Formats: sequence, C-alpha cells, structure tokens
Amino acid sequence: MTATAKVYLVGAGPGDPELITLKALKALQQAEVVLVDDLVNPALLAHCPQARIVPVGKRGGCKSTPQHFINRMLVALAAQGQTVVRLKGGDPFVFGRGGEEMLALRAANVPYEVIPGLTSGLSACASMEVPVTHRGLNHGVTLITGHTQDGEPLPWAALVATQTTLVVYMGMQHLPEISRGLIQAGMSPEMPCMVVENCTRPQQRAVVSSLQAMPYLAHTQQLKSPAIIVVGEVVTLAKTTQQTQDWQDQLQSWLSVANAA
Ligand code: SAH
Repeated sequence: MTATAKVYLVGAGPGDPELITLKALKALQQAEVVLVDDLVNPALLAHCPQARIVPVGKRGGCKSTPQHFINRMLVALAAQGQTVVRLKGGDPFVFGRGGEEMLALRAANVPYEVIPGLTSGLSACASMEVPVTHRGLNHGVTLITGHTQDGEPLPWAALVATQTTLVVYMGMQHLPEISRGLIQAGMSPEMPCMVVENCTRPQQRAVVSSLQAMPYLAHTQQLKSPAIIVVGEVVTLAKTTQQTQDWQDQLQSWLSVANAA
C-alpha cells in the first residue's frame, strides 16, 4: 500500500445536490476514482471532473455489481495507490452496505475514512415538514427496512410496541403487507402515514393519508421506489399541498363507495 492510498466511504445525501457535506465535497475534489451508486444524483459528479467514474448501481436495466466485487475493487484500487471515493446515496451506514465495505477495507489494512451523509428517511420527513420526533407525540424514531433478505416478516408487534415514528426504507413492494402487519398487530388503521417518493429531488411526490388507505393510494398514484414510508402521529404535521388535498378528497369518495357496498 503506498502512502497516498485511501478509500473514502462517502454519503451523498438524499438527492438534492446541495444536501451533501463539505467534507464529502472535499473528498470528491481529491478523488482519482469514484465508485457511484445509482441513487446518487449525477449532478454531484461535477465536483470531480478529474476522476474516473465507475457506476456500480443496479437501476437503468443493468444488474447491480455484486457486493463482494465492489469490496475487492476498493481494495485493489487502494493497492494501486489511488485515492478512491465510494459514493453512496444517503448515509453509507443506513441500509447502504457500507459496513461490509468498511470490514473488507479493515481486513485488507487499507486506510479509509467514513463520511456520513443525510439519510433519505429523515430527509423525506424534513422535506414534508414532519418532525420525526415531537415532544408529546412520541419518544423516538425507528429506521427499518421493508424488505428483509430472507423474506422473514418484520416483527410487527415489537414495532407497534415501540410507539415511535416508523421510517421504512425499501418498503414499496411490500406496502400492503406492512399496512396489514401493523394493523393486525394492534396499530390503529387511522394512524397517519405518508409515502415520499424521490425526496428532495425536483420530481418529489408525496401522499399523506392513513395506514389503512396507503396501499390503495400508492397503487392508484403509482408511487414507486425510491420512496420512504413514514408511519406515526407526527405525520399529521405534514404540509399539505393542493395535490395531497386532492388525493384525500379522492380517498373520501373511495371510502364512501366501499362503505356503501
Ligand atoms: N443509504 C441510503 C439508503 C439505501 S437503501 C440512505 O441512507 O438513504 C435504498 C432505499 O432508500 C430506497 O429503496 C428508498 O426507500 C430509500 N431512498 C433512497 N433515496 C431516496 C429518495 N431520494 N427518496 C425516497 N427514498 C429514497
């Protein structure tokens, strides 16, 4: 390993290119190689015109690069003496497999530095003016994945018992199960719930409704990944726009049809 070799595991933030840290920007400016995830806003690459860019994401119809291959690539590039930035969406250690990359670097004795980023789950809440914690409403927040590796159901009863705001990543494919699981475990069907798609990007969309109605609304509005699902009383504080108002009106008419049937 040469003296200059270093790998930066960097959080790129949720999407808005201004929501990146100064430290992350400095790392990009020094980078010789940048390995980029597909959730990263490509506008950020304007900060590293000198660097070789290696996309390793899975969107755009390509298969994602296997994690072990990325780990090996990071170690190999550092062994060549390169300054490497591994640029990941949000925070590298929140459902980002940054931990696995760090362990590979540790095992190979590669110098590295972790630069945190704003995670999409919390940014989604902020972008909707929802305080994830709010005195009098809750005592905390739980970040969870809606997509377990082994297909195991989430511990619904334990999640309901926390009485925290639930912020669900990678949950869109499982939204009906999430809604049903929480309600069957005792959460009120009327618990406020929102889905925020593409948070902090110009194309951000959000639906604010109830836990019970959200699978239907997400389906009719064709909300897709990347999106964050938020469940909890704090969602009542969400800013409402004409768009969310329209959806709520639509929901009311749907409910009256369903109740009359
Ligand atoms: N490390 C990332 C999360 C990676 S997991 C972070 O800290 O944000 C990928 C999941 O993150 C997506 O399925 C989606 O649930 C969420 N996500 C990432 N970017 C998002 C965005 N701009 N808007 C909404 N959800 C996003």
